[in-house]
Amino acid sequence: MASDNPHNFPPSLTPNQWTTLYAVTSAIIRPFTEDEIAAYMQTTATDISKEHVRSFLLEEANYTNPRFRFALEHTLEQKLPKSSVQAICFVLNLLDSVPGCLLLTFSLTPFHRQPARVREDLIISWLDQSSRLLFPPIRGFAKAITALTRLVWTRSADADMYYGAVGYPEKTGAGVKALDGEPGEFYKFDFLDFSTSEKGALECDVVIVGSGCGGAVAAARLASEGLDVVVVDRGEWVPSDQLPLRETEAFAKLYNGNLASTTADGVIALMAAETFGGGGVVNWAASLQGQIMGSNSKKTQGFVREEWAAKHNLPFFLSNDYQDCLDKVSERMGVTAEGIAHNHRNQTILDGCRKLGYSAVIVPQNTGATLPGDKEGIVREHADGYCCNGCGSGKKGDGRKMGTTHTWLPDAAQAGARFIQSYHADKVLFSTDAKTKAIGVTGTWGPQKVPLNIVAKKVIVSAGSLHSPCLLLRSGLTNPNIGKYLHLHPSVTISAFFPEPTDPWVGSPLTAACTRFENLDGNHHGGKLETAVMGPLVIAGVLPWLSSASLKRTLLNYRHSGLFFTIQRECEPGMVTLNTRGEPVVKYTISEADRAMIQTSLLGLAKILYVQGAEEILPAVYGLKPFKRNPTAAEREEEIREEIAEAESSGRYFWGGRGRGEDKDDDEEEDEEGTCGYATHQLNDPGIMDVRFQRWLKKFAAHGMGGEKTIYASAHQMGSCRMGNDGGVGSVVDPRGRVWGVEGLLIADASVLPSACGVNPMITVMAISEWIVGGVVAELKPQRGGGAKV
Ligand SMILES: Cc1cc2nc3c(=O)[nH]c(=O)nc-3n(C[C@H](O)[C@H](O)[C@H](O)COP(=O)(O)OP(=O)(O)OC[C@H]3O[C@@H](n4cnc5c(N)ncnc54)[C@H](O)[C@@H]3O)c2cc1C
Repeated sequence: MASDNPHNFPPSLTPNQWTTLYAVTSAIIRPFTEDEIAAYMQTTATDISKEHVRSFLLEEANYTNPRFRFALEHTLEQKLPKSSVQAICFVLNLLDSVPGCLLLTFSLTPFHRQPARVREDLIISWLDQSSRLLFPPIRGFAKAITALTRLVWTRSADADMYYGAVGYPEKTGAGVKALDGEPGEFYKFDFLDFSTSEKGALECDVVIVGSGCGGAVAAARLASEGLDVVVVDRGEWVPSDQLPLRETEAFAKLYNGNLASTTADGVIALMAAETFGGGGVVNWAASLQGQIMGSNSKKTQGFVREEWAAKHNLPFFLSNDYQDCLDKVSERMGVTAEGIAHNHRNQTILDGCRKLGYSAVIVPQNTGATLPGDKEGIVREHADGYCCNGCGSGKKGDGRKMGTTHTWLPDAAQAGARFIQSYHADKVLFSTDAKTKAIGVTGTWGPQKVPLNIVAKKVIVSAGSLHSPCLLLRSGLTNPNIGKYLHLHPSVTISAFFPEPTDPWVGSPLTAACTRFENLDGNHHGGKLETAVMGPLVIAGVLPWLSSASLKRTLLNYRHSGLFFTIQRECEPGMVTLNTRGEPVVKYTISEADRAMIQTSLLGLAKILYVQGAEEILPAVYGLKPFKRNPTAAEREEEIREEIAEAESSGRYFWGGRGRGEDKDDDEEEDEEGTCGYATHQLNDPGIMDVRFQRWLKKFAAHGMGGEKTIYASAHQMGSCRMGNDGGVGSVVDPRGRVWGVEGLLIADASVLPSACGVNPMITVMAISEWIVGGVVAELKPQRGGGAKV
C-alpha cells in the first residue's frame, strides 16, 4: 500500500497541507530553464562566478531542496507563532478543496496539480492590487507567504554560492576571508561565571539591566564615580576580532529574535540588538544630534526639544545641561564629520538633493575617538559597510565605530564594573508586596538557567524599548502607561539599480540624509531620507516579490544596487504588551496620516534616484511595477496597453480633456501642507520632464502604503516607558528617569524618550542616560561617604 506521506513530512502539518505549501513556495522560487539560463549568462559580468550564478538560477524553494526544506519546517515548527501557522493552514486547506480552488483560482483543479507557471501567475494575480478577487484576504496571505519563502530561501541558501553569484566579497573577522588583515587592539572583557553554581546571589550599589546605548553610558559614569556596578545583558559578547560575523550568524548572535521579529500583525519587521553592547555594536555609526551639521547648529532637532519641553513639561531639554550631555557623549566617541568619504549611495543623496533643491545634511560618525597608541587628533575614515554584522576592531588607524564595546563598557570595566552576559533579568525585586521600593533583580544565567538574584541599592533598567516595559510588567507594576506610546520611526525602502557598479559593501553606510520631507504636516512629522547597510541578506529581506524570475534577476544585480529608505517621525504610537511567555508583543498600526507622509517622502526619494540616473527604481511595495528607464519592447508595449486602458476607463481617451473625477492636470503642483494626514505630493520638480516617470510617480502616489502591500521595518524603537512631569498620569518615569511610585528603580534607555526623536536615536539615548545617572550619583555618593569603593 502506498504511503499517504511518501515524503515523510513532519506531523506539524498534514501531508496534504505540506504538499500544497510546497506547491506555493516552489512557484515563488522556481528554477530557470536551460534557455533562460543561457540568455541570462550572456548578460553576466565576466568576473562573477558563472558556476555560482547557474546554481543560484537553478534553486527551487521545494522539499527537494534539503536546505530550504529543513529551514522551512524549522521555521513553521519553532519560530512562527501558532496563530500565523493556523492562518497559513486555513488558506492551504482552501487551496486543496474544490470550492476553495474555485474561489481563489477560478478553477476546479487543485492548486498543487497546476503547472508551476500557472501557480506563479495565480500568486502574482493575488498580489496585483487591481485584480478582482472573490476572496480579498488572499492578498495578505500572498504577501506573507512570498515574504516567508524569500526569507527562508535566502537565509538557508549555501552562502558561498549565494555570495559568489551576487559578487559580494564577504568579510568576517574570524574567517580566512577577512579583507583587512590583522585586527587592531580591542578590550577583552571578563564576565562572571555561574556554570558551577546551582543558584547565585550578588550584591552591589547599582545593577544595570542591558548593556546597550543607554546601559553602557550609565555603567561608565556610575563606575567612574566609584560606585559598585554590575551590568547584565541577556545577549553575549562577541570579541571584536571575530566581527563582523557572517550574516546569518550575525542575525542569530547579535539580534533580538534572530532578526525575524515583527509587530503582532506581521506588518513591521523589528530590528533590535541582543548582544553585549546592544545597539552600539550593530548600529551604523550615524551620530546625529543636530538638524543641520556643517552650519552652526549642533542641537538635537530643535523642534523635538521644544516639543518635549512644552508638551511634556520637560524644560530640561531646552537647557544647557542637556546640551552638555549631548556634547559629552559625542566627545567620548569622537563624533566627527571629518574624514568622511561618501560611498555611492550617500553621494547619490547629496547630489540628487542638490539638483532638486532639497535640503540635505552630512551625518557625523562616532569614529574619531583615539585608541591606545593613536596619534593625537587622528581622523578615522569609517569605511565599513559590514556594520550591522558587528563592527569589528579594524586595523589600527583605518577606523572603526567607537561604539559601546570600544568606549563606554571598557571605561566601566577599568573603573571596576562587573559584567554578566547571558543573563535574562526576569523581574525586579521589591522590599515589600506593595512594590514601592526596588532592591534588585531576579533572573537566570546561561543556557542552564541558573537562578541568580542581584541585590542593589538602585536598579537601572536599560533593556531597550521592547524589553524594558516587559520587565516592569512581569514585575507586577501596574502604571497603565507602561508599554504605551511606543514609537518605531517606521521605514520603507526603495532599491535602485544603476548602470555603473555601486559596490554596495563599500564605505560607511550612512553619512548623508535628505531633510526636505521632515515637516510634512506643520507639526514636524515626516520623513528623513537615508541609506542602509547592504548585506545581500538584508536586500533579500526588503525586495518585494514580483515574480520568481524577477526576484532572482534583481538579487543578482546586487553590485549595481543601492538601498535607500525614509524613516518617519510618526504622529501615532503603538504599544508593547506581554505574551504568555512574558516576551514582548508589539501592537502598532501605521496611521493613515503617517502612511500618507511616508508616501510623500518616498516620492521625493524616487525623484532623487531618478535624477541620479537610476535605471530601475523598486519601492518595497507589492503590486506596483518598478520604474524602468529603458524598458524592453514587451514591457513598453504593456505600459502602452495600460495607458490606453486607463484613458478609456477615465473617459479621457474619447473626450479629450480631463477624465472623470479628475480635477487637476497631471503636472499641476499638489504640494499642500496641512495638519496630520493632509500632506500631498508634489509630482513635478525642475529637471524631471520624463512623462513616463511622471506617470509612474502618479501610479505610486495612488498605490497607497497599506500594511498588506508594503514592507515596513523599524530599527528605532522609542518611548514605551516615556518620561513626563505629570506624577505618572501620562508617563512612566519622572524627569530624572525614576519610575513613578517606586523608590530605587530607574529607566535609562530609548524607552524614556517622550516621543519619537526624529533623528537616529543613539546620541539622544546616550545623552538622556548620562543625565539620568547624574541624578543617581547625586543620590548615592553622599550615602557612600564621598564614593569610596566598598
Ligand atoms: C541595525 C540598527 C542600526 C542602527 N543604526 C543607528 C545609527 O546609525 N545611528 C543611531 O543613532 N541609531 C541607530 N540605531 C538605533 C540605536 O542603536 C538604538 O536606538 C539604541 O541602541 C537604543 O539603545 P537602548 O539602550 O535603548 O537599547 P539597546 O542598545 O538595544 O540595548 C538593550 C540591551 O538590553 C538587553 N536586554 C533586553 N532585555 C533584557 C533582559 N530581560 N535582561 C537582560 N538584558 C536584556 C539586550 O540584549 C540589549 O543588549 C540602529 C539600530 C539598529 C537595530
